[in-house]
Amino acid sequence: MNEYDSNRIYDLTKKINYLKTENLDEANCYVLNTCHIREKATDKVYHDIGRVKKQFRKKAKPIVLVTGCVAQAEGNILLEKEKYIDAVIGPQSYHKINKTILDLEKKQKKINFTNFDVIEKFDSLNSLKNSCGKISTFLTIQEGCDKFCKFCVVPYTRGSEYSRSIKELVIEAKQLIDNGAKEITLLGQNVNAYNFEGKKLSDLIFEISKIKDLKRIRYTTSHPKDFTQDLIDIHKDCEKLMPLIHLPVQSGSNKILKAMNRKHTIEEYQRTIDKLNKVNSNIKFSSDFIIGYPGETFEDFKQTEQLVKKVKYINSYSFIFSARPGTPASKLKKTNLSEAKKRLISFQSVAETIKTKYRETLIGKISTVLFENHTKDGGKYFGRDEFLNSVIVKSDENLVGQIKKIKIINGNHNTLHGEIPSNLSQNNHAA
Ligand code: SAM
Ligand code: SF4
Repeated sequence: MNEYDSNRIYDLTKKINYLKTENLDEANCYVLNTCHIREKATDKVYHDIGRVKKQFRKKAKPIVLVTGCVAQAEGNILLEKEKYIDAVIGPQSYHKINKTILDLEKKQKKINFTNFDVIEKFDSLNSLKNSCGKISTFLTIQEGCDKFCKFCVVPYTRGSEYSRSIKELVIEAKQLIDNGAKEITLLGQNVNAYNFEGKKLSDLIFEISKIKDLKRIRYTTSHPKDFTQDLIDIHKDCEKLMPLIHLPVQSGSNKILKAMNRKHTIEEYQRTIDKLNKVNSNIKFSSDFIIGYPGETFEDFKQTEQLVKKVKYINSYSFIFSARPGTPASKLKKTNLSEAKKRLISFQSVAETIKTKYRETLIGKISTVLFENHTKDGGKYFGRDEFLNSVIVKSDENLVGQIKKIKIINGNHNTLHGEIPSNLSQNNHAA
C-alpha cells in the first residue's frame, strides 16, 4: 500500500513540478513514506533524516516531509524532536501534499496533517494514475480496519474501514491500463471486507475483469473471516484471477488466535482452504505468522509449524511479536526473547524446506510469465509467473508487457531462470 501511496504522491507533486531524482544530492524535497507495523520504524526515520542532514551540511536545507503511518502515529513527537522535519502528513491527508510543499517554499511554519479525511483524499487523487507506466500495478480499493486484532496498529493509523465505489475503481483501473498496466493488484488492509453499497470484492473483480486489456488480477490482504463463498466461487469462474492467495493466519493455535482477537478458528481457516482447493486445484497459498505472541507456549508454537506443513504455503512471512505502542497486546507479558528467536529460526527452517521443495517441482516445467521490465544486464527480461515467482529470461525480442509460456531451467531461492521453448504455441492464454 505504501508503494501505491508513494506513486500517487508522485503523481501529485509532478503537478507542481517536483520530479523524481536518482541524484539525492540535488533533491529540493525529501518525502519519507513510512510504515509503522513493526518496531524500528521511527528509528529508521531518524536515521534517514540524519543521512539527509549530512548530505546537505554545506547546502541549503531541502524540504523534509514524513508521510505514512509513523507520521500518523507519532507526528507531534517527530516534529518536536527533529527540527529538520518540516511537515508530517498521515495516510489520509496525502491530497494536501502540494499545498504543504508550496507553503513551506514560502517559509511557513511546521505543518501537521494527520486527520482522517479519507473521502476527500480519494476524491482529489482521482484521475492521476500510473504515470510511471508500470506493467504490474496496485489499486487501493479499501482502507482501514475495524477488526482490532490485539497486536496491530492499523485501526489506529489508517482509521476505520472505508471502501471506494465500484464506478470510481473501474475508471481508475482503465486509466492504469491505458498507461500500460497489464496486471492490477487490488489493495486493502482487509481487502475482502470490501463493501460498497452491498457490492463485494467478488462483484468488483467481476466488473474489472471485463476490461479487455487487463490480463491479470490479484488482491491482498485478505482476512480469513471475510472469505465468503462468493469470493471462493469467483476463483472458479474468473480466468484473469491469479491462483495465489495470501491468507494470513498468524498462529496455528486456537488459544492464541482467540487471544489475538482474530475472530476465527484453525478449523474454519482450514475449511476455507479446502473449499478454495476444491473450486480450483491450481490454487496455492502464502501467509503471515507472528511468532512468540504473549502467552504462546511451545505446544502452541508446534501447532503453527504443523499448520505450515499441512497447508504447504509457498511463501511464509514470519516475525517475532513486536509490541506496538497503544495496542492492547503491548501491555501483555512478553515471551522470553531468546526463546522467541529460537522458535522463529525453527519455524523459518520448516517454511523454507517446504518452499524449496515446491520450487524444485517447477524446474523443467512450463510457467506462464508476465514480463515487467528489462534487467540491468542487457538482453534479459524480468517477469512473474501466476504465483508471483520471479522469472528471468534471455531474449532478443522485447518481452515487456507480454505474457509467455516459459520453460524453467534452474533457479535459486529468489529467482527462477527460464527460456522460451521453441516447440510451444504461445497463443491464447489468459494469464
Ligand atoms: N489485515 C491483514 C490480516 O489481518 O491478515 C494483515 C495486515 S498487517 C498490516 C500485515 C502483517 O503484519 C500481519 O499479517 C502480521 O503478521 C504482521 N504484524 C502486524 N502487527 C504485528 C506486530 N505487532 N508484531 C509482529 N507482526 C505484526
Ligand atoms: Fe491489523 Fe489485519 Fe487485524 Fe486489521 S485484521 S487489525 S489490519 S492484523
